[in-house]
Order: sequence, then structure tokens, then C-alpha cells
Amino acid sequence: MRITVLGCWAPYPRPGGACSGYLLQDAGGNVLIDAGHGSFSHLTRFIHHGDLRAAVITHLHPDHYVDLHCLRHAVAAELMHNRRQRKVQLFIPSEPVHIFAELSACTDAFEIIPIESLPEEEVPPGVRVRCGSVGPVQFFFLPARHSLPAYSLGIEGSGYMVYSGDTAPTEELAALAREAGIFLCEASGQDGDEEHCGDRHMTARQAGALARQAKVKELIITHFFPEYDLEALRAQAGAAFGGRVELATEGDTYFLY
Ligand SMILES: [Zn+2]
Ligand SMILES: [Zn+2]
Repeated sequence: MRITVLGCWAPYPRPGGACSGYLLQDAGGNVLIDAGHGSFSHLTRFIHHGDLRAAVITHLHPDHYVDLHCLRHAVAAELMHNRRQRKVQLFIPSEPVHIFAELSACTDAFEIIPIESLPEEEVPPGVRVRCGSVGPVQFFFLPARHSLPAYSLGIEGSGYMVYSGDTAPTEELAALAREAGIFLCEASGQDGDEEHCGDRHMTARQAGALARQAKVKELIITHFFPEYDLEALRAQAGAAFGGRVELATEGDTYFLY
């Protein structure tokens, strides 16, 4: 399993950068995780969009989904010219309804899978998640604490990783991330931002504390406000985690086996 950072900024990118986007590559093929501003452009540095099998969107804020419109046109053109046979499987929340309706109309490119239509299971025990799969890779969708319906992701393939999406810290996320090989966690705020982050986001220090509680093997922080000093965020997360912290960097690939 490998994960490549396509975009790490929020809610707007630094020059030449992109908002949330990650390319997951495993036996299930190529899967785009989130599709924020600029992420489609960076995706095509690594694979041809014709080779993308599925896209998984944690929530319908622009910095996580807006480049689906680029992907839609690219995939529709491939299908029209018979350069690919199957639509892209698109896992998305079904709210807000007006955005869901707009994306659901893109049937020339996407096979829409509302996350709320997936079966519910308890993974781990006591934590209710929705379960979906792309080939042999399983996705566990945990409801997040955010300003609109959103999910954190557990991803089980040739390794196990967890991506927080956008969320305030929760006990359920700590349980989902327990002993994860990689915990890719949002760090929207710096020290002093706790009130601003509230019940929607977390600070770098809160991300570190959650990772420590979950005993994750590797912590990568992401979802950076472009005006912040990333080394300060790394130090704050690291102090709470009690170990080395990686900063998500566009173009970097992490391997997990
Ligand atoms: Zn959000
Ligand atoms: Zn965001």
C-alpha cells in the first residue's frame, strides 16, 4: 500500500500547491482520496486519469471535492473515445443534498455510491462505521465531528492506515486509528486556535495527543492553513505525540506493508 500526497492545504493552497488530495495505490488499483482545489492537476503527475478506479470523498466542502468536476470531464472523454470501459466509482456523502444532487447528475463519468447506503458494522468493537470496498481494499467510514456530514477513513489493504478527514478529536477516531501503520491527521490549527477549531477541526497538538492515545506507528499531519509556520506545527504535534511527526508534503509517497 502506498499513499502519495497530492494536496495538503486548506482552505486555499499556497502558490503552486493544492488542497486535500491523496492517491492510494494498492491491489485494488488507484484510488483518489479527496479532490480539493488543484489536486487533479497533481494526480496526473503520477498516473493517467484513465487508470483511476475509484474516488472516495470524506465530505462535500470545496477543499475536499471541487476537483471532481475536472475528473468528471476527463473520465467522460475517455469513456466517449472508448479509452476506458468503466466509470469511476465515486463514494460520497449524500449531504448537503444540493451538492450531492449536482454530482449525482454526472452519470457520464461516475458510478455514484452514497456512503450512507453502505452496510453498517462495528469496526473496531463499539464503533459503528459504514463499510465499502474497492477490489480487496476495505474502507471504513467513521462519522466525523465537523460542520457538515463528514467521515474519517480506515483503510485496510496490504497495510492499515487511517485518514482523519476534517474533524475535531473524538474517542471513536482514536479507536479507529488504534495501532494504525500510518495516521494521516488534520492539523488545521496551531496553539491558541483551540476555540476557533471548536467542534470542527483540531490543532496540531490535539492531533499529536490523539495519535499518542491511539498508539499509531507513524503520524503525518496535513490540512495546513497556508499562512502558518509548518515547523511550529510539527513541534507542537511532536510534543504531544512524543515522537517524530511527518509533514504531508505534495509529491511525497509513504509506503505501508
Ligand atoms: Zn471541511
Ligand atoms: Zn477541509
